[in-house]
Amino acid sequence: MDKKLDFRGVNEIEFHKRFKGDEDCYQYVAKIKWKDGNFLCKKCGHKKMCKGKKPFSRRCMKCKYDESPTAGTMFDKVKFPLLIAFHLIFKISSRKKGMSTLELSREFGLRQVTCWKFKQKIQQAMSSAGNYKLAGEVHVDECLIGGGKKKENEVVVMERKN
Ligand SMILES: [Zn+2]
Repeated sequence: MDKKLDFRGVNEIEFHKRFKGDEDCYQYVAKIKWKDGNFLCKKCGHKKMCKGKKPFSRRCMKCKYDESPTAGTMFDKVKFPLLIAFHLIFKISSRKKGMSTLELSREFGLRQVTCWKFKQKIQQAMSSAGNYKLAGEVHVDECLIGGGKKKENEVVVMERKN
C-alpha cells in the first residue's frame, strides 16, 4: 500500500497553494493514512471506525480509541506545526542542491538541532519509502553524516529498484 507523501511533480507555487495551513496538512496525512477507508485500530486491531473528536481523527468503533492522523507517522511528537514539517519535507526532498540545517533553521525559525533531527527523519523516511523514486535526488550535507566530511554533493538517489 502506498502510504507516502508524494510531492513529485509539484512545484513550489502549487505546493504553497495546496498547503496553506495545518488543516490542509492534517487532511492530507489522514487521506494517505486511511486511504480507501482502510483503518486498523492500533490499540485493539478493530477495523471499523467513525469520525473522531479531533479534526481529521478517526475513532475505533470497538474500543473508542481516537487516533489522530499523525499518530504512528513521522509527524508523531513533532513539536512544530505540521505545516512547517510539510514545508521542510518539500524543501528537502525537492531541492536539487540540499539545504543545510543552518539555512533551514533560518528560513523556518526553528532551532538548528530541531531541523537536524527532522531532516534525519525525512531522510530515513525517504530511504524506507523503498522502491520509489521520491523526489529525484537528495544531496546530503555534512551535518547529517555526523563526523567525517564526505565529498561535497554526496547523493542519495531514491531509484525504483527493478
Ligand atoms: Zn480499537
